Amino acid sequence: AVSQHNGLLNALVHIRPPAAVLADANAASRAPVSGTGDSPRSSLDGLLFAIKDNLCTSNMPTSCASRMLADFHPQYDATVVARLKARGAVLLGKTNMDEFGMGSDSVHSCFGPVKNPLSSEHSAGGSSGGSAAAVASGMCFGALGSDTGGSIRLPASYCGVVGFKPSHGLLSRRGLIAYANSLDTVGIVASDVSSVRLIYDSLKEHDESDPTSVDNATRRRIEDQAAAFRSSRGGQKRHWRIGVPMDYNVSEISTRLREAWVSTLAALRDLGHQIVPVDLPSTRHAVCSYYIVALAEASSNLAKYDGIRFGLSPTIAPTEAKTNPLAKITAAREQGFGKEVQRRILLGNYSLTSEAMENYFIHAQKVRRMVKQDFDRVFAFPNPLNSTSKTHQPDPPKEPVDVLISPVSVSSAPALQDVTSLDRSALDAYINDVFTIPASMAGLPALSVPIPASTDGELPLGLQIIAQYGDEDSLFDIATVVE
Ligand code: GLN
Repeated sequence: AVSQHNGLLNALVHIRPPAAVLADANAASRAPVSGTGDSPRSSLDGLLFAIKDNLCTSNMPTSCASRMLADFHPQYDATVVARLKARGAVLLGKTNMDEFGMGSDSVHSCFGPVKNPLSSEHSAGGSSGGSAAAVASGMCFGALGSDTGGSIRLPASYCGVVGFKPSHGLLSRRGLIAYANSLDTVGIVASDVSSVRLIYDSLKEHDESDPTSVDNATRRRIEDQAAAFRSSRGGQKRHWRIGVPMDYNVSEISTRLREAWVSTLAALRDLGHQIVPVDLPSTRHAVCSYYIVALAEASSNLAKYDGIRFGLSPTIAPTEAKTNPLAKITAAREQGFGKEVQRRILLGNYSLTSEAMENYFIHAQKVRRMVKQDFDRVFAFPNPLNSTSKTHQPDPPKEPVDVLISPVSVSSAPALQDVTSLDRSALDAYINDVFTIPASMAGLPALSVPIPASTDGELPLGLQIIAQYGDEDSLFDIATVVE
């Protein structure tokens, strides 16, 4: 049934044999916990999961939806995948995506585009479109994906499910094939907030084999600080202060989405929560800065795919191979990478050249710092990663808020025909990330909650909730109210 269903959606690029899935499922429900007979290993025991194809899996190929990695069969499981398995989760298969995570509609894939399960003419969003479509179509309980600049939140909102990206460094990235390390996070898709939270709680441990994984002492300090802060403000049931970033109210937002945003805020106000307009002036520069930082990192990450040590072995004429020592590398890149990836490698390389470095890369890093400072200026919970030295303390926020609520993108899912049209410039696609990129630049946790369509034929919309670094609990608590 899954293969048939998938034939229409193209959400999964590898499906495990049904017998293997069944065997795992049987083993899971019988898994004994020492001394407790047949009780399940965890609350994930026996639940089906799909894994984005940029997370390494030992029993399935891992291609990043790229011809470059068509024959890649990793020897190990990404830490998050290993943890799911250890908790009894059953793996269904690997999900389709934009090649190497580069895109917003899951159309840049060597396997062809993912279709939105709610309307096959529409985009499922990207780059974790396969993960969102697999959950939305009921193929699995949850899915793992990755979010570098919105790749979990955007597809989740287009497909009407919940998508979550954690604070950078809290979920292990070992075994996640890097797009842009300083922005990459593993993310989670499920159909409701409590399922996402359950999955996150099962995965959020320090990983000593990921050097960027936040260590245990720091995790404890952040958790203690967040818990103390929350209880000083009346605990879980208190009335929240919800920030509305006025800079996100751009003219491109569709009327239906703006109305949904406003009516959600009004409903929250009626429940006694306080709505506070806030300014995040640097966010308007965040997209430009992201596409410099992310692509610079991507160009250096993808440099290893030379067709010699890593990646596709290209077909080249023997005479050419003899006369041109670079022929093999050039051919591997031409044949292995899709056009969007090639474009991004070129852009990334350019911004790292000596001629452009100062004007692009260095400036982009400065903007990134300003984006983070904007967030620190509005959140009541002080950023636990900021230096504690007196001289570096930022000014206390004027109108401190607990979370921010904004749209996820400017509209519901666009038509596939429009996003694949030759008239569409790459920039049109980049602009879709305008609301999701700022939280990524600042490393903050963010979650997208679907607003179901009110009439037949409409597609769902998504609202994004952003919290301060390490304040996942507030994020989940508010998301449960908004849901
Ligand atoms: N759409 C953004 C990009 O193409 C974000 C992708 C992602 O988060 N992986 O870079």
